[in-house]
Amino acid sequence: MKAQDISREKSAELFEKAKNYFPGGVNSPVRAFKSVYGTPLFIERGDKAHLWDADGNEFIDFCCSWGPLILGHNNPQIREAVEAQLGKGLSFGAPTALENELAELIISNNKYIEKIRFVSSGTEAVMSAIRLARGYTKRDKIVKFEGCYHGHSDSLLVKAGSGLVTFGETSSAGVPKSFADETIVIGLNDKAALEQVFVDFKDQIAAVIIEGVPANNGLLIQDKEYIQFLRDITKSNGSLLIFDEVITGFRLGFEGAAKYYDIQPDILTYGKIIGGGMPVGAYGASAEIMGHISPDGGVYQAGTLSGNPVAMAAGIAALSILAQPGFYEKLESTTQAFVEELRAFIAENNLEVKIFTIGSIFWFAFTTQENIQTAAQIDPASMEKYKIMHRELLNRGVYFGPSGYEVGFISAAHSPEDLQTALAVIKDSLLVAFA
Ligand SMILES: *Cc1c(COP(=O)(O)O)cnc(C)c1O
Repeated sequence: MKAQDISREKSAELFEKAKNYFPGGVNSPVRAFKSVYGTPLFIERGDKAHLWDADGNEFIDFCCSWGPLILGHNNPQIREAVEAQLGKGLSFGAPTALENELAELIISNNKYIEKIRFVSSGTEAVMSAIRLARGYTKRDKIVKFEGCYHGHSDSLLVKAGSGLVTFGETSSAGVPKSFADETIVIGLNDKAALEQVFVDFKDQIAAVIIEGVPANNGLLIQDKEYIQFLRDITKSNGSLLIFDEVITGFRLGFEGAAKYYDIQPDILTYGKIIGGGMPVGAYGASAEIMGHISPDGGVYQAGTLSGNPVAMAAGIAALSILAQPGFYEKLESTTQAFVEELRAFIAENNLEVKIFTIGSIFWFAFTTQENIQTAAQIDPASMEKYKIMHRELLNRGVYFGPSGYEVGFISAAHSPEDLQTALAVIKDSLLVAFA
Protein backbone atom coordinates (compact mmCIF):
# COMPACT_ATOMS: atom_id res chain seq x y z
CA MET A 1 0.00 0.00 0.00
CA LYS A 2 1.13 3.54 -0.70
CA ALA A 3 2.19 5.28 2.46
CA GLN A 4 1.03 8.79 3.21
CA ASP A 5 3.51 11.46 2.09
CA ILE A 6 5.68 12.80 4.90
CA SER A 7 5.64 16.52 5.53
CA ARG A 8 8.41 18.34 3.69
CA GLU A 9 7.13 21.81 4.55
CA LYS A 10 10.24 23.09 6.35
CA SER A 11 12.60 21.44 3.88
CA ALA A 12 10.68 23.03 1.01
CA GLU A 13 10.95 26.44 2.66
CA LEU A 14 14.68 26.02 3.22
CA PHE A 15 15.13 24.81 -0.34
CA GLU A 16 13.36 27.89 -1.73
CA LYS A 17 15.68 30.06 0.33
CA ALA A 18 18.75 28.06 -0.74
CA LYS A 19 17.87 28.66 -4.39
CA ASN A 20 18.59 32.34 -3.80
CA TYR A 21 22.12 31.51 -2.74
CA PHE A 22 23.25 28.41 -4.62
CA PRO A 23 22.83 27.19 -8.19
CA GLY A 24 19.93 24.76 -7.99
CA GLY A 25 19.77 25.42 -4.25
CA VAL A 26 22.62 23.02 -3.45
CA ASN A 27 26.37 22.77 -3.09
CA SER A 28 26.62 19.45 -4.92
CA PRO A 29 24.21 18.65 -7.76
CA VAL A 30 22.86 15.21 -6.85
CA ARG A 31 21.57 16.61 -3.55
CA ALA A 32 18.89 18.48 -5.50
CA PHE A 33 16.71 15.32 -5.81
CA LYS A 34 16.33 15.83 -9.58
CA SER A 35 16.08 12.06 -10.17
CA VAL A 36 13.54 11.33 -7.43
CA TYR A 37 10.25 12.76 -6.17
CA GLY A 38 9.85 15.86 -4.09
CA THR A 39 11.96 18.49 -2.51
CA PRO A 40 15.36 17.53 -1.03
CA LEU A 41 15.28 16.89 2.68
CA PHE A 42 17.26 19.35 4.77
CA ILE A 43 18.96 17.35 7.47
CA GLU A 44 19.22 18.65 10.99
CA ARG A 45 21.12 15.91 12.75
CA GLY A 46 22.21 12.31 12.70
CA ASP A 47 22.89 9.74 15.38
CA LYS A 48 24.10 6.19 14.75
CA ALA A 49 22.14 4.96 11.72
CA HIS A 50 19.42 7.59 12.09
CA LEU A 51 18.80 10.98 10.48
CA TRP A 52 16.34 13.70 11.37
CA ASP A 53 15.21 16.32 8.87
CA ALA A 54 13.99 19.89 9.39
CA ASP A 55 10.36 18.70 9.57
CA GLY A 56 11.21 16.28 12.37
CA ASN A 57 10.96 13.17 10.18
CA GLU A 58 13.25 10.34 11.26
CA PHE A 59 14.98 7.98 8.83
CA ILE A 60 17.23 4.96 8.90
CA ASP A 61 20.09 6.14 6.71
CA PHE A 62 21.61 3.96 3.97
CA CYS A 63 23.31 6.83 2.15
CA CYS A 64 25.75 7.48 5.00
CA SER A 65 26.90 10.78 3.51
CA TRP A 66 27.63 8.91 0.26
CA GLY A 67 29.88 6.39 1.99
CA PRO A 68 32.13 8.11 4.53
CA LEU A 69 30.05 7.21 7.59
CA ILE A 70 30.97 3.55 7.95
CA LEU A 71 30.66 4.07 11.71
CA GLY A 72 27.34 5.89 11.45
CA HIS A 73 26.53 9.40 12.63
CA ASN A 74 27.88 11.02 15.76
CA ASN A 75 30.27 8.20 16.62
CA PRO A 76 31.46 8.88 20.21
CA GLN A 77 35.15 8.13 19.59
CA ILE A 78 35.29 10.40 16.55
CA ARG A 79 33.36 13.11 18.33
CA GLU A 80 35.67 12.99 21.36
CA ALA A 81 38.78 13.11 19.16
CA VAL A 82 37.45 16.16 17.34
CA GLU A 83 36.43 17.84 20.58
CA ALA A 84 39.87 17.22 22.05
CA GLN A 85 41.46 18.96 19.08
CA LEU A 86 39.07 21.92 19.03
CA GLY A 87 40.62 23.72 21.98
CA LYS A 88 44.07 23.53 20.38
CA GLY A 89 43.34 25.34 17.14
CA LEU A 90 41.73 24.51 13.84
CA SER A 91 44.60 24.93 11.40
CA PHE A 92 48.26 25.90 11.48
CA GLY A 93 49.55 25.44 7.95
CA ALA A 94 52.51 23.70 9.56
CA PRO A 95 53.18 20.00 10.17
CA THR A 96 51.56 18.29 13.17
CA ALA A 97 52.12 14.95 14.88
CA LEU A 98 48.55 14.03 13.96
CA GLU A 99 49.52 13.70 10.30
CA ASN A 100 52.29 11.26 11.24
CA GLU A 101 49.88 9.31 13.38
CA LEU A 102 47.26 8.89 10.66
CA ALA A 103 49.89 8.07 8.03
CA GLU A 104 51.49 5.47 10.29
CA LEU A 105 48.13 3.90 11.05
CA ILE A 106 47.38 3.61 7.35
CA ILE A 107 50.77 2.60 6.01
CA SER A 108 51.53 0.03 8.70
CA ASN A 109 48.22 -1.68 7.94
CA ASN A 110 48.29 -1.35 4.16
CA LYS A 111 50.93 -3.20 2.20
CA TYR A 112 50.01 -1.49 -1.07
CA ILE A 113 51.44 1.94 -0.25
CA GLU A 114 54.74 3.10 1.17
CA LYS A 115 54.16 6.84 1.17
CA ILE A 116 51.04 8.95 1.23
CA ARG A 117 50.04 12.60 0.73
CA PHE A 118 46.92 14.00 2.42
CA VAL A 119 44.64 16.37 0.52
CA SER A 120 41.12 17.63 1.22
CA SER A 121 38.80 15.72 -1.13
CA GLY A 122 38.56 12.68 -3.36
CA THR A 123 38.59 14.91 -6.42
CA GLU A 124 41.86 16.47 -5.32
CA ALA A 125 43.37 13.04 -4.59
CA VAL A 126 42.56 11.70 -8.05
CA MET A 127 43.54 14.89 -9.84
CA SER A 128 46.92 14.74 -8.10
CA ALA A 129 47.35 11.03 -8.84
CA ILE A 130 46.80 11.72 -12.54
CA ARG A 131 49.40 14.49 -12.49
CA LEU A 132 51.81 12.18 -10.68
CA ALA A 133 51.28 9.44 -13.26
CA ARG A 134 51.90 11.91 -16.09
CA GLY A 135 54.96 13.35 -14.40
CA TYR A 136 56.36 9.93 -13.59
CA THR A 137 55.87 8.39 -17.04
CA LYS A 138 56.45 11.62 -19.01
CA ARG A 139 53.34 10.71 -21.01
CA ASP A 140 50.09 12.67 -21.37
CA LYS A 141 47.19 10.36 -22.11
CA ILE A 142 45.07 8.55 -19.59
CA VAL A 143 42.48 5.83 -20.02
CA LYS A 144 39.29 5.75 -17.97
CA PHE A 145 36.18 3.61 -18.14
CA GLU A 146 32.61 4.55 -18.92
CA GLY A 147 30.66 4.15 -15.69
CA CYS A 148 33.50 5.15 -13.36
CA TYR A 149 33.43 8.48 -11.53
CA HIS A 150 36.68 10.01 -10.37
CA GLY A 151 35.63 13.42 -9.10
CA HIS A 152 35.20 16.61 -11.08
CA SER A 153 38.70 17.55 -12.28
CA ASP A 154 38.92 18.53 -15.96
CA SER A 155 40.77 15.43 -17.18
CA LEU A 156 38.12 13.16 -15.72
CA LEU A 157 34.89 14.87 -16.73
CA VAL A 158 35.03 12.99 -19.97
CA LYS A 159 32.69 10.38 -21.38
CA ALA A 160 32.91 7.99 -24.29
CA GLY A 161 32.66 9.73 -27.64
CA SER A 162 30.10 8.66 -30.20
CA GLY A 163 31.24 6.74 -33.23
CA LEU A 164 34.35 4.65 -33.56
CA VAL A 165 36.95 7.05 -32.22
CA THR A 166 38.06 6.35 -28.71
CA PHE A 167 38.72 10.00 -27.90
CA GLY A 168 36.52 11.16 -25.09
CA GLU A 169 33.97 13.94 -25.18
CA THR A 170 33.72 16.35 -22.29
CA SER A 171 30.84 15.57 -19.96
CA SER A 172 30.75 19.13 -18.66
CA ALA A 173 30.70 22.53 -20.28
CA GLY A 174 33.90 24.40 -19.54
CA VAL A 175 36.29 21.50 -20.08
CA PRO A 176 38.48 22.31 -23.11
CA LYS A 177 38.27 19.79 -25.92
CA SER A 178 42.06 19.66 -25.92
CA PHE A 179 41.90 18.30 -22.35
CA ALA A 180 39.33 15.70 -23.32
CA ASP A 181 41.60 14.62 -26.16
CA GLU A 182 44.11 13.45 -23.56
CA THR A 183 41.52 11.19 -21.92
CA ILE A 184 40.50 8.00 -23.66
CA VAL A 185 37.25 6.46 -22.50
CA ILE A 186 36.33 2.83 -23.12
CA GLY A 187 33.79 0.36 -21.73
CA LEU A 188 34.48 -1.76 -18.68
CA ASN A 189 35.13 -5.47 -19.07
CA ASP A 190 36.23 -5.11 -22.70
CA LYS A 191 39.75 -6.41 -23.13
CA ALA A 192 39.87 -5.94 -26.89
CA ALA A 193 39.07 -2.23 -26.59
CA LEU A 194 41.95 -1.65 -24.20
CA GLU A 195 44.34 -3.73 -26.28
CA GLN A 196 43.42 -1.54 -29.27
CA VAL A 197 44.07 1.63 -27.26
CA PHE A 198 47.56 0.43 -26.44
CA VAL A 199 48.17 -0.21 -30.14
CA ASP A 200 46.70 3.12 -31.29
CA PHE A 201 48.48 5.17 -28.63
CA LYS A 202 51.66 3.20 -28.20
CA ASP A 203 54.00 4.77 -25.61
CA GLN A 204 51.54 7.62 -24.97
CA ILE A 205 49.44 6.22 -22.12
CA ALA A 206 50.51 7.50 -18.70
CA ALA A 207 47.93 5.55 -16.75
CA VAL A 208 44.79 3.49 -16.74
CA ILE A 209 42.45 4.48 -13.93
CA ILE A 210 39.61 2.39 -12.56
CA GLU A 211 37.47 2.57 -9.44
CA GLY A 212 38.51 -0.19 -7.04
CA VAL A 213 35.05 -1.58 -7.62
CA PRO A 214 32.99 0.77 -9.79
CA ALA A 215 30.26 2.02 -7.45
CA ASN A 216 29.22 5.42 -8.76
CA ASN A 217 27.04 4.31 -11.63
CA GLY A 218 25.41 1.27 -10.18
CA LEU A 219 27.64 -1.37 -8.66
CA LEU A 220 29.62 -2.82 -11.57
CA ILE A 221 31.56 -5.65 -9.97
CA GLN A 222 34.42 -6.71 -12.24
CA ASP A 223 36.02 -10.14 -12.43
CA LYS A 224 39.40 -10.44 -10.80
CA GLU A 225 40.72 -11.84 -14.05
CA TYR A 226 39.86 -8.56 -15.83
CA ILE A 227 41.60 -6.48 -13.16
CA GLN A 228 44.63 -8.75 -13.49
CA PHE A 229 44.50 -8.08 -17.25
CA LEU A 230 44.60 -4.33 -16.51
CA ARG A 231 47.61 -4.91 -14.26
CA ASP A 232 49.43 -6.94 -16.91
CA ILE A 233 48.73 -4.73 -19.93
CA THR A 234 49.69 -1.52 -18.13
CA LYS A 235 52.90 -3.06 -16.85
CA SER A 236 53.95 -4.42 -20.23
CA ASN A 237 53.31 -1.01 -21.82
CA GLY A 238 55.15 1.06 -19.23
CA SER A 239 51.90 2.67 -18.04
CA LEU A 240 50.72 2.99 -14.46
CA LEU A 241 47.60 1.41 -13.03
CA ILE A 242 45.63 3.66 -10.69
CA PHE A 243 43.00 2.26 -8.33
CA ASP A 244 40.62 5.03 -7.36
CA GLU A 245 39.66 3.71 -3.94
CA VAL A 246 37.76 6.78 -2.79
CA ILE A 247 34.75 4.52 -2.12
CA THR A 248 36.36 1.09 -1.74
CA GLY A 249 39.30 2.22 0.42
CA PHE A 250 38.53 1.34 4.07
CA ARG A 251 35.15 0.02 2.85
CA LEU A 252 35.94 -3.38 1.33
CA GLY A 253 38.49 -3.81 4.07
CA PHE A 254 41.26 -1.74 5.58
CA GLU A 255 43.32 -2.37 2.44
CA GLY A 256 40.41 -1.82 0.09
CA ALA A 257 40.03 -3.30 -3.36
CA ALA A 258 43.78 -3.85 -3.80
CA LYS A 259 43.62 -6.49 -1.07
CA TYR A 260 40.26 -7.79 -2.29
CA TYR A 261 41.79 -8.59 -5.69
CA ASP A 262 45.25 -9.15 -4.24
CA ILE A 263 46.64 -6.93 -7.00
CA GLN A 264 49.23 -4.19 -6.49
CA PRO A 265 48.31 -1.04 -8.42
CA ASP A 266 50.89 1.72 -8.91
CA ILE A 267 48.95 4.59 -7.34
CA LEU A 268 45.96 4.44 -5.00
CA THR A 269 43.58 7.24 -4.12
CA TYR A 270 41.43 7.56 -1.01
CA GLY A 271 38.69 9.84 0.27
CA LYS A 272 35.29 9.51 1.91
CA ILE A 273 35.88 7.13 4.88
CA ILE A 274 39.50 8.21 5.45
CA GLY A 275 38.50 11.43 7.24
CA GLY A 276 35.87 9.90 9.52
CA GLY A 277 33.31 12.35 8.11
CA MET A 278 35.68 15.32 7.77
CA PRO A 279 37.01 16.46 4.35
CA VAL A 280 40.13 14.36 3.75
CA GLY A 281 41.50 12.71 0.64
CA ALA A 282 44.84 11.03 0.03
CA TYR A 283 46.93 9.38 -2.60
CA GLY A 284 49.69 6.89 -2.05
CA ALA A 285 52.17 4.73 -3.92
CA SER A 286 55.62 3.21 -3.58
CA ALA A 287 58.30 5.45 -2.06
CA GLU A 288 59.90 5.55 -5.50
CA ILE A 289 56.83 6.87 -7.29
CA MET A 290 55.92 9.25 -4.44
CA GLY A 291 59.46 10.58 -4.64
CA HIS A 292 58.32 12.49 -7.73
CA ILE A 293 56.00 14.69 -5.66
CA SER A 294 57.22 18.12 -4.58
CA PRO A 295 59.29 19.05 -2.64
CA ASP A 296 61.21 15.80 -3.33
CA GLY A 297 60.36 15.74 -7.02
CA GLY A 298 59.09 17.82 -9.88
CA VAL A 299 55.35 17.10 -9.68
CA TYR A 300 53.81 20.04 -7.85
CA GLN A 301 50.94 19.51 -5.43
CA ALA A 302 50.07 21.54 -2.34
CA GLY A 303 47.21 22.47 0.00
CA THR A 304 46.65 25.22 2.56
CA LEU A 305 44.36 23.04 4.67
CA SER A 306 45.94 19.67 3.76
CA GLY A 307 46.47 17.45 6.79
CA ASN A 308 44.09 19.67 8.75
CA PRO A 309 44.48 18.74 12.43
CA VAL A 310 40.77 18.42 13.21
CA ALA A 311 40.22 16.26 10.14
CA MET A 312 43.30 14.17 10.99
CA ALA A 313 42.00 13.61 14.52
CA ALA A 314 38.68 12.40 13.12
CA GLY A 315 40.47 10.12 10.64
CA ILE A 316 42.68 8.61 13.34
CA ALA A 317 39.70 7.88 15.58
CA ALA A 318 37.72 6.31 12.72
CA LEU A 319 40.53 4.24 11.22
CA SER A 320 41.61 2.98 14.67
CA ILE A 321 38.22 1.35 14.99
CA LEU A 322 38.31 -0.04 11.45
CA ALA A 323 41.76 -1.55 12.03
CA GLN A 324 40.43 -3.76 14.83
CA PRO A 325 40.28 -7.47 13.95
CA GLY A 326 36.89 -8.69 12.79
CA PHE A 327 35.43 -5.26 12.02
CA TYR A 328 34.95 -5.86 8.30
CA GLU A 329 33.98 -9.51 8.64
CA LYS A 330 31.12 -8.56 10.92
CA LEU A 331 29.92 -5.73 8.70
CA GLU A 332 30.05 -7.91 5.62
CA SER A 333 28.13 -10.78 7.17
CA THR A 334 25.50 -8.33 8.41
CA THR A 335 25.19 -6.99 4.87
CA GLN A 336 25.03 -10.49 3.39
CA ALA A 337 22.17 -11.51 5.68
CA PHE A 338 20.32 -8.27 4.87
CA VAL A 339 20.70 -8.75 1.13
CA GLU A 340 19.87 -12.47 1.26
CA GLU A 341 16.57 -11.81 2.99
CA LEU A 342 15.65 -9.26 0.33
CA ARG A 343 16.68 -11.59 -2.46
CA ALA A 344 14.44 -14.32 -1.05
CA PHE A 345 11.55 -11.86 -0.93
CA ILE A 346 12.23 -10.75 -4.50
CA ALA A 347 12.27 -14.36 -5.69
CA GLU A 348 9.05 -15.25 -3.83
CA ASN A 349 7.28 -12.32 -5.43
CA ASN A 350 8.84 -12.67 -8.86
CA LEU A 351 9.97 -9.05 -8.90
CA GLU A 352 12.21 -7.87 -11.73
CA VAL A 353 14.92 -6.47 -9.55
CA LYS A 354 18.35 -7.71 -8.51
CA ILE A 355 20.57 -6.73 -5.63
CA PHE A 356 24.28 -6.65 -6.25
CA THR A 357 26.55 -6.47 -3.24
CA ILE A 358 30.17 -6.44 -2.16
CA GLY A 359 31.50 -5.79 1.34
CA SER A 360 28.95 -3.45 2.95
CA ILE A 361 27.84 -1.90 -0.35
CA PHE A 362 24.60 -2.87 -2.09
CA TRP A 363 22.75 -1.75 -5.22
CA PHE A 364 19.22 -2.35 -6.45
CA ALA A 365 19.18 -2.93 -10.21
CA PHE A 366 15.78 -3.06 -11.82
CA THR A 367 16.76 -5.61 -14.42
CA THR A 368 16.30 -9.22 -15.45
CA GLN A 369 19.96 -9.59 -16.44
CA GLU A 370 22.00 -12.02 -14.39
CA ASN A 371 24.95 -9.70 -14.17
CA ILE A 372 25.66 -6.03 -14.81
CA GLN A 373 29.32 -5.16 -15.35
CA THR A 374 29.19 -2.20 -17.73
CA ALA A 375 27.42 1.14 -17.79
CA ALA A 376 25.82 0.24 -21.13
CA GLN A 377 23.95 -2.64 -19.51
CA ILE A 378 21.94 -0.27 -17.30
CA ASP A 379 18.60 0.65 -18.81
CA PRO A 380 17.83 4.31 -17.96
CA ALA A 381 14.10 3.52 -18.14
CA SER A 382 14.52 1.18 -15.16
CA MET A 383 15.17 4.22 -12.98
CA GLU A 384 11.43 4.97 -12.94
CA LYS A 385 10.95 2.04 -10.58
CA TYR A 386 13.72 3.31 -8.30
CA LYS A 387 12.03 6.69 -8.21
CA ILE A 388 8.84 5.17 -6.87
CA MET A 389 10.72 2.96 -4.42
CA HIS A 390 12.69 5.97 -3.16
CA ARG A 391 9.53 7.96 -2.42
CA GLU A 392 7.92 5.00 -0.65
CA LEU A 393 11.07 4.42 1.40
CA LEU A 394 11.16 8.03 2.57
CA ASN A 395 7.48 7.92 3.42
CA ARG A 396 8.19 4.91 5.64
CA GLY A 397 11.35 6.27 7.27
CA VAL A 398 14.21 4.85 5.21
CA TYR A 399 16.70 7.15 3.48
CA PHE A 400 18.45 5.94 0.29
CA GLY A 401 20.59 8.04 -2.06
CA PRO A 402 18.42 10.21 -4.36
CA SER A 403 19.25 8.37 -7.60
CA GLY A 404 18.92 4.81 -8.79
CA TYR A 405 22.52 4.91 -9.98
CA GLU A 406 23.73 5.35 -6.40
CA VAL A 407 24.68 2.45 -4.19
CA GLY A 408 23.60 1.98 -0.58
CA PHE A 409 25.90 1.53 2.40
CA ILE A 410 25.50 -0.34 5.67
CA SER A 411 27.37 1.04 8.64
CA ALA A 412 28.52 -0.56 11.88
CA ALA A 413 25.93 1.65 13.60
CA HIS A 414 22.99 -0.11 11.90
CA SER A 415 21.55 -2.21 14.73
CA PRO A 416 19.74 -5.52 14.15
CA GLU A 417 16.49 -3.66 14.94
CA ASP A 418 17.30 -0.93 12.39
CA LEU A 419 17.90 -3.57 9.75
CA GLN A 420 14.73 -5.51 10.60
CA THR A 421 12.69 -2.31 10.37
CA ALA A 422 14.37 -1.36 7.11
CA LEU A 423 13.80 -4.82 5.60
CA ALA A 424 10.06 -4.56 6.17
CA VAL A 425 10.02 -1.04 4.73
CA ILE A 426 12.04 -2.00 1.66
CA LYS A 427 9.77 -4.97 0.97
CA ASP A 428 6.64 -2.81 1.16
CA SER A 429 8.25 -0.14 -1.03
CA LEU A 430 9.29 -2.68 -3.65
CA LEU A 431 5.74 -3.98 -3.84
CA VAL A 432 4.47 -0.46 -4.46
CA ALA A 433 7.11 0.08 -7.15
CA PHE A 434 5.87 -3.04 -8.94
CA ALA A 435 2.14 -2.48 -8.30
C1 LIG B 1 33.34 10.42 -4.40
C2 LIG B 1 34.38 9.96 -5.35
C3 LIG B 1 35.36 10.84 -5.86
C4 LIG B 1 35.34 12.32 -5.56
O1 LIG B 1 35.49 12.58 -4.20
P1 LIG B 1 34.99 14.01 -3.63
O2 LIG B 1 35.41 13.95 -2.20
O3 LIG B 1 33.52 14.04 -3.85
O4 LIG B 1 35.71 15.05 -4.40
C5 LIG B 1 36.35 10.32 -6.65
N1 LIG B 1 36.39 9.01 -6.95
C6 LIG B 1 35.47 8.14 -6.49
C7 LIG B 1 35.60 6.69 -6.83
C8 LIG B 1 34.43 8.59 -5.70
O5 LIG B 1 33.50 7.74 -5.27
